[in-house]
Amino acid sequence: MLYSVFDWEKSLIMRMDINELAARIAAFNIRENSCLETAKCFAIMARTELARKTKLYNGSGCNLRKGSDICTKPGHCLEFGIPNIYTPYDKMPQSIRQATEETKNKIITFGGKPIKPYFHLRCGGTTENSENVLGNKITYLRKVYCSYCADIEDEEKDKYFTLEELEQLLNIKIVKPKDEYSSFNGIFEKIEVDEDGRIRSVKIGGKNFKGTEIADKLYLNSTRFNYMPVKFLITCIGKGHGLGLCYSGSEEMAKAGMKYEEILNYYYTGIDIEEMRRPDRPLNGQIVVLDAASGRGDKNESKSMTGFAEGPVNLSIVLELKELLKENGAVVYLTRETEHNVILSKRVELTNEKKPDFFISIGQNTFQNDTASGTEIYHYREDKAGKKLSEYIMEEVTKELNCNDRGVREAEFYLLREVRCSATFIELLYITNPVDEGKLKSPLMHKKAARAIYRAVIRYYGE
Ligand SMILES: [Zn+2]
Ligand SMILES: [Zn+2]
Repeated sequence: MLYSVFDWEKSLIMRMDINELAARIAAFNIRENSCLETAKCFAIMARTELARKTKLYNGSGCNLRKGSDICTKPGHCLEFGIPNIYTPYDKMPQSIRQATEETKNKIITFGGKPIKPYFHLRCGGTTENSENVLGNKITYLRKVYCSYCADIEDEEKDKYFTLEELEQLLNIKIVKPKDEYSSFNGIFEKIEVDEDGRIRSVKIGGKNFKGTEIADKLYLNSTRFNYMPVKFLITCIGKGHGLGLCYSGSEEMAKAGMKYEEILNYYYTGIDIEEMRRPDRPLNGQIVVLDAASGRGDKNESKSMTGFAEGPVNLSIVLELKELLKENGAVVYLTRETEHNVILSKRVELTNEKKPDFFISIGQNTFQNDTASGTEIYHYREDKAGKKLSEYIMEEVTKELNCNDRGVREAEFYLLREVRCSATFIELLYITNPVDEGKLKSPLMHKKAARAIYRAVIRYYGE
């Protein structure tokens, strides 16, 4: 499922898979060497928090930026902290990716609704009943004994403050949050952060402080405390006891061989772990034929100066794209599923048999020398839908693959003319250009190309 994040810094909406976003948030909240089962807990907890905000579960999304599920304003939408949303997913720690994939789409619910997955670093023996901390009873936040974390020393960088301690140390008055959903946003406000993640200034309890002042008064090691205060204040209010999951305890449980289901069920009372609801899929019922140009044995197969051939690349992209479209409800057919070539007339025949809504063909361009590079996309002259989709594909592909836009053009190609549906023919990059060839050789680029085309299709059908 695609999740929309409004980035205040760049002032644009980023769409990303909810599982990938949850992975980034989980990674932000735990140590890199955490146990796999703990990482799974946090992947599920982060996903749960994200799911809770979506319309799927009657969430309202971000109330500052309508139309996005959450925003990146510190302390506004994400109490779990704001990770770097641009970290490429495949650059994230392997354990986080594994945890994410093995818990894909799973969230924690109570009575069918996503819970608010409170957690804390270390409870010190027992977790807390919600009424002692938040003032109201939340059935899944019950006190449980946690012998697991009792003997662990706090790491020096982790400091706890009760609200009373904060009031005293900073000489301020804090209005205590009333209920679960009022959250603790009002306590730390207007957090300004520099590029390195150091806090420049912050307003606490209505009073402005420089980051250095806070570090000084609270005896912190540095001003690079990120959003930890927001995060840990949530769980460190009152007597300094925690709500929900105890991170240190979950680490010990994982080391003792317990699985994430046991850990989550231990700290959250009476919950279920289930798959997220599926949104109404935007491509439900659409029939798409994908055509990978030039299989092995095709005399017209494009080849690079070094003899690298286009056939396998086209197939790889098409197979990837097929999965993405299917996940979104489309019925997808391919004109070839193996490396072997299928002649043009046969591809037309296969396509027309399926009566598709769209035909998307992918091939690669060549030129007599290595100067030409970039992407060209063709549609048949009267085909308005084909033109529109071609334009979207061009926008997405040039962005994703960082390549030249060589234009969306009309053409009389045999395939475009003979298929009886809207069609687009993507000449994706020049295999004869060394830079383009390098891209075409990378399996990651095949995935990126597929994702770009997929996003264009979703945009097209979203209108
Ligand atoms: Zn927001
Ligand atoms: Zn504990």
